[in-house]
Amino acid sequence: MKAILYEAFSAPPKLVSLPDPTPEPHGVVVEVRATGVCRSDWHGWVGHDTDIELPHVPGHELAGVIAAVGRDVTRWRVGDRVTVPFVGGCGHCPECHAGHQQVCDNQFQPGFTHWGSFAQFVSIHRADLNLVALPETLDFATAASLGCRFVTSFRAVVDQGRVSAGQWLAVHGCGGVGLSAIMIAVASGARVVAVDISEAALGLARELGAEAVINAGEVEDVAGAVREITGGGAHVSLDALGAVSTCVNSINSLRKRGRHIQVGLMAGDHSFPPVPMGRVISHELEIYGSHGMQAHRYGAMLEMILAGRLSPEKLVGRQISLEQSIEALMGMDRFEGVGVTVVTEF
Ligand SMILES: [Zn+2]
Ligand SMILES: [Zn+2]
Repeated sequence: MKAILYEAFSAPPKLVSLPDPTPEPHGVVVEVRATGVCRSDWHGWVGHDTDIELPHVPGHELAGVIAAVGRDVTRWRVGDRVTVPFVGGCGHCPECHAGHQQVCDNQFQPGFTHWGSFAQFVSIHRADLNLVALPETLDFATAASLGCRFVTSFRAVVDQGRVSAGQWLAVHGCGGVGLSAIMIAVASGARVVAVDISEAALGLARELGAEAVINAGEVEDVAGAVREITGGGAHVSLDALGAVSTCVNSINSLRKRGRHIQVGLMAGDHSFPPVPMGRVISHELEIYGSHGMQAHRYGAMLEMILAGRLSPEKLVGRQISLEQSIEALMGMDRFEGVGVTVVTEF
């Protein structure tokens, strides 16, 4: 098979020919039809992810068709159209037994713990637990674009944030995660105030239904502005970027007993934000993380897509070839362009 491989961190990946994978007894091999390019792939490539062993094939936002099935798999057949969460469960640990595969003790992460989907084929473990069937009407590029940013936002807004109709959601950072969160919150009946430093991103936020926008580059006190617009603070606030300023602004923009959801990854200099714990105590704030979404929750999201309430295809950006993914991956440290870049030509 053709695949993108790197042999050292930060060294340019290469398009190479590798043996086709064979399925684990409990797994399948998926012929990849689309795979998203994500900032997490860039973090892995430069060496920020200790799960990665070299040489490595990246890629974790995939959709495709089952090409081979292991002998112990009962739910899937060759030819089924599928996608997979970026965190797969083992099926044996207490978290998996409780239905929380997204925080499994022995995670399977294609493109991190194992070779990923920047390839014609990818091996997926524990298929009965981890695969998600794709509706016929959902194209592969859109399905792949759900893989990481969209499902994480869905879990952050719906499951962790528990945003209900009429409540205010503040979204700090309007890249792929933030725009997905706005779409999902608006579909849930929430009112959204969006924060970013880019007028283009704020324009998109408005198009997706944000009622108010704040340009953080022009406003001194962002959290104060959110509290003013929302009449006392947001019920739920997301740091969708992953930076000290957006994290702290998000917590400070909450009303009493509000809920902060950390979605953006906090890496490097941003690893230890000065969280205002005094305010967390006196206002009884809740602080949550959100880490992907388990396969059994995809149904709720797919139903909203099929019903026309969510339109993730609006967030699909450039469609590129496997070879072009090398340059796209190496450039992901720059602020992402509008929309998810998806490899659709293998
Ligand atoms: Zn597990
Ligand atoms: Zn991703």
